[in-house]
Amino acid sequence: METRTIKPYITVIALLILTSLALAFTVNVNISDEAGVKVFLPDHVGEWTGDELRFCQAPACQKSWYLSQIKEEGKCPECGGQLGTMTKVEADLLPSDTEVLKKQYTLPGGRTIFASIVMSGRERASIHRPQVCLVGQGNEIVKSSVLDIPMDHRAPLDVMVLDMLRRWRLPDGRQGEYDSYYAYWFVGKGRETPYHTMRMVLMASDRIFHNRSHRWAYISVSGDRDKAGAYRAEIKDFVRQLYPEIVLE
Ligand SMILES: [Zn+2]
Repeated sequence: METRTIKPYITVIALLILTSLALAFTVNVNISDEAGVKVFLPDHVGEWTGDELRFCQAPACQKSWYLSQIKEEGKCPECGGQLGTMTKVEADLLPSDTEVLKKQYTLPGGRTIFASIVMSGRERASIHRPQVCLVGQGNEIVKSSVLDIPMDHRAPLDVMVLDMLRRWRLPDGRQGEYDSYYAYWFVGKGRETPYHTMRMVLMASDRIFHNRSHRWAYISVSGDRDKAGAYRAEIKDFVRQLYPEIVLE
């Protein structure tokens, strides 16, 4: 009964939201270049040591390299092609003023974490729902949850954590499995959210009520997922130390 009585209101509210969004994305606004984070990943995050990633843009090669492996700046060690900070596929897909930075972090024992920052350009079309790309790459999302990360000297940060699973058939017929996690959140000037939808609402309200459009960044941290769940403490520890280095307060 309850659902029937509120149904008309939901329709009205949905129409209002759609109209607002339509207005928000068609009306001229002052595009501002203000961002909430730096496009920067430190060389050290606590015990972790980082090595930046570079990607060959030559269509026939597309190999990825660590910055430490590259002898001649900007040139692929194998084919001599031009190197970029994003993959060829991303470079073809994203607006040309999108900034991307990726780094692999390693612990002395060998454990690794990948961190990346995607900063939207003027077109603001650089950031998509992460789920779409991840599932496209053959991953299955088995669980999504918000992890509350305590921070020193500021409010906790909410991060979306996707538990992922990739399955494939081994030559002997058995099934191979790889468990991983993908954690992310969005940052605008003075704004943070783990939800893609909330980011759209915040962008729209900035446009409608404040006539401005800031650059949003999308930060992600990913790695192997253990069944016992220790990866959640690892995400907390890593992000708690990384974030203060890149956020612009
Ligand atoms: Zn190459």
